[in-house]
Amino acid sequence: MSAFTLKNYACGAWTEGSGVADIASAVTGEIVARGGSGGLDFKAMADFARDVGGRNLRKLTFHQRAAIAKALGSAIMERKEELYRLNFLTGATRKDGWIDIEGGAGTLFSMASKAKRELPDDFILVDGAVEQISKEGSFLAQHVYTPLKGLALHINAFNFPVWGMLEKISVALIAGVPSIVKPATATAYLAEAAFRVLIETGKVPDGALQLIIGSTGDLLDHLTGQDVVSFTGSASTAAKLKSHPVVIRESVRFVAEQDSLNAAMLGPDATAESPEFQLFVKEVVREMTVKAGQKCTAIRRALVPAAMLDAAQKAIAEGLGKTTIGDPAREEVRMGALVSLAQREDVRAKVAALKTEAKVVYGDAPSSDPIGASAVVGAFVAPMLLRCDDPWTARAVHAVEAFGPVSTLMPYKSLDDAIALCNRGEGSLVMSLFTNDPDIAREVVIGAGSFHGRVIVINRDCAKESTGHGSPLPVLVHGGPGRAGGGEELGGMRGVKHYMQRTAVQGSPETLRAVTGSWVKGAATEATPPHPFRYRFSELEIGKTVETPSREITLKDIEHFATFTGDTFYAHMDEAAAKANPFFPGRVAHGYLILSFAAGLFVDPAPGPVLANYGLDELRFLTPVSPGDQIKVRLTAKSKKKRNDEYGEVRWDVLVTNQKGESVATYELLTMNAM
Ligand code: NAP
Repeated sequence: MSAFTLKNYACGAWTEGSGVADIASAVTGEIVARGGSGGLDFKAMADFARDVGGRNLRKLTFHQRAAIAKALGSAIMERKEELYRLNFLTGATRKDGWIDIEGGAGTLFSMASKAKRELPDDFILVDGAVEQISKEGSFLAQHVYTPLKGLALHINAFNFPVWGMLEKISVALIAGVPSIVKPATATAYLAEAAFRVLIETGKVPDGALQLIIGSTGDLLDHLTGQDVVSFTGSASTAAKLKSHPVVIRESVRFVAEQDSLNAAMLGPDATAESPEFQLFVKEVVREMTVKAGQKCTAIRRALVPAAMLDAAQKAIAEGLGKTTIGDPAREEVRMGALVSLAQREDVRAKVAALKTEAKVVYGDAPSSDPIGASAVVGAFVAPMLLRCDDPWTARAVHAVEAFGPVSTLMPYKSLDDAIALCNRGEGSLVMSLFTNDPDIAREVVIGAGSFHGRVIVINRDCAKESTGHGSPLPVLVHGGPGRAGGGEELGGMRGVKHYMQRTAVQGSPETLRAVTGSWVKGAATEATPPHPFRYRFSELEIGKTVETPSREITLKDIEHFATFTGDTFYAHMDEAAAKANPFFPGRVAHGYLILSFAAGLFVDPAPGPVLANYGLDELRFLTPVSPGDQIKVRLTAKSKKKRNDEYGEVRWDVLVTNQKGESVATYELLTMNAM
């Protein structure tokens, strides 16, 4: 095949750059692509992102941006076979490519649907509750998020050229921040092809996405405090970029995902016969060989009780022995090649460092006869299991990451010792624990949680459905402290917020209502007829209110409710026992009775735009209701969230008061209203 030329996508145009690098196939060593970024005007790209892309994105609501993310995911799925063909050139099998390509599309889908559910169809995101910071309630505060007015520079690693790009784009796009993507050169041809798919949808607003093939030139010189750098790669590059004078001077947000000595721990409760032992062995083997071990989350250290060391070594070696290595396009091949011959050299050098403290007990040779390929021109390497009998004085095994199919097995003496060894990685993306003892799980999470971005506990009950040690999920945070870079990505809408600024806004209730688009206690209400339930979603205005007449609650009501529902709790039925309770003056009404009677007071019963009661939030019972008390309700439209073209969710503020004007109950009622 003839090598193709990769292009940058700069200022809205596909542009060939100079300073071209040749990129070789991981499998055959042939040059498959060429590309460079020489000649690009990086300042113009930064300006274009901010002035054109940012403006275009910020004209759209969260929901409109989420719809674009979903459309991009669909386009990747429709054209995935084009990407799979290139995926093989990177040394990855189809299964590896599935994680990268379909996992990338899945991340766009997941983020888009979460954004539609959890973010408003608006330009501003409210964070937490209104803070009451004045006695009379005329001066309040509300935290809000708004999108940064800068750009996101995404510098990605070579191992997941599609997923790595899409997971970062998904959150920046939904936040409303334009991205400039710089894929790793070794697999830039696959990233470029996936990027092309995105642009060719015609759905990406001008300036929202740009691509750099090769060097980022002087781009970092043009960053400001409104920009975000999200970096994935080695600790040394991260350190270099983080300490760039402009990054420091402008306090540019810098998210780093870097090396990680992830651990898997076999619990002290496991025996050679227990299912958890088998699961542990299977997971270590899988994590060593998926993507030829070039996964930031791969298991680098496998910790087992000292007495289990030999059994674990034997079982893992047996598992590794079943790994077929070769041309990743072949169906019978389970493990392909490393990304390049240079990467293989790097892995060999790292293994040499590990060998000063550990001995290779499986795979101490390069793969000499990969199926359908050559180990001379292709970057093939056999999986290597090392064993370190003294992990307590060893240093390299806890610090040197061989970014290939390499893992070190080590013993521990007690659970405390295992936790201490685990934490010797000085911060990692993930650790897994294989135990069937929940107390051990709790101890490990308390002892090791602060050193890990994710802890996965696997036992016989959840193994079948487990997503596995090495899989970051869009809804869970991906990142880790210390050596892992100190960054955090994804985690549902947490990831979106990394591209937004949180601001505490202080002002009057009316001001906060206008700023947030959400009714705030103390802001004006509109109580004239018709009843708020008569308005369609699109017509209902925030602040629309109904105030009901009073209703007396009698002892007969309470007794009827008790016998009817079966809730004969003593506080409702036994005067003396209720009186002895520190909260009640005597027999009181059920909380649920108050809710039911409140609904009876505020509901407008005839068929209309209100389709369903969707639930209650923030319910609190504040003052007991005694027989003879009178209650009334104020129901106010607080906020609205469109769900689809047919209906949306309305959040109502509900306040139940008694004849003395005391608050009896407060809550937020959710209804689904027709458009
Ligand atoms: P690397 O050399 O640090 O490269 C990472 C990225 O940084 C590449 O896109 C690279 O571009 C770019 N880069 C290098 N120098 C740069 C500079 N001066 N200015 C701007 N960009 C620059 O890392 P690698 O060795 O390819 O990747 C493997 C490492 O990534 C492993 O250590 C692995 O643990 C880590 N990783 C971490 C995660 C995670 O989520 N924590 C995920 C995957 C990988 P070029 O390719 O053009 O040099």
